Amino acid sequence: MITAERKPMEDLIKFVSPYRRILLVGCNECVTVCSAGGRKEVALLSSALQMHFMKEGKPFEIKEMTLERQCDPEYVEELVPYIDQVDAVLSMSCGCGVQEIARRFKEKPVLPAVNTKFMGASERQGVWAERCVGCGDCGLARTAGICPIARCSKQLLNGPCGGSTRGKCEVDPDIDCAWQLIWDRLKALGMTDKYEENLPAKDWRPARGAGPRKIVREDLAS
Ligand code: SF4
Ligand code: SF4
Repeated sequence: MITAERKPMEDLIKFVSPYRRILLVGCNECVTVCSAGGRKEVALLSSALQMHFMKEGKPFEIKEMTLERQCDPEYVEELVPYIDQVDAVLSMSCGCGVQEIARRFKEKPVLPAVNTKFMGASERQGVWAERCVGCGDCGLARTAGICPIARCSKQLLNGPCGGSTRGKCEVDPDIDCAWQLIWDRLKALGMTDKYEENLPAKDWRPARGAGPRKIVREDLAS
């Protein structure tokens, strides 16, 4: 999933201060799972902003909504009845949702309430870790299902580097060395011969080397 963290309250207050009427929009997908911008976070932020402006004696109105997916035009359309009643939109989705609202409502300022972080997985309650950078040519079959691009601090395709110590990364001893993890798993799978194969230089064009990417499915496109 895409992970995100709410921006500091001071930033959000600064963002919305020029406006009187705000539409605060959450998303029911990834940002709900990582507790950054779902229905609950929308309610909490709405209360905090109202409280702040009430204390300041500044007129401030906020309407709360949470869409199924902010990155999908079908759901963004649900904002139509409300958009003219507000001065700006404060979005709690990832950057994709913020941009989708900005694309649909060209005349309305759209502000991001969260910082979009990375594609990751939940390690345990309240902890998410990066797992994929969307390189466009997945090589997990060659690395025992562990991604060296997302999980090795130096993105080494043939590791480890000389700094790996007792399974930890030299960049940060709290990080597991990705290449140690790859080796351990190859061993458990009886596939250590894979480790001997040098991975060739990566073609980064499918990553982002050739500009913004698009997937076009002719069978589905309208
Ligand atoms: S190899 Fe590329 S697509 Fe596969 S997990 Fe790593 S970054 Fe993601
Ligand atoms: S110690 Fe391991 S994870 Fe850290 S940079 Fe070196 S190979 Fe990558």
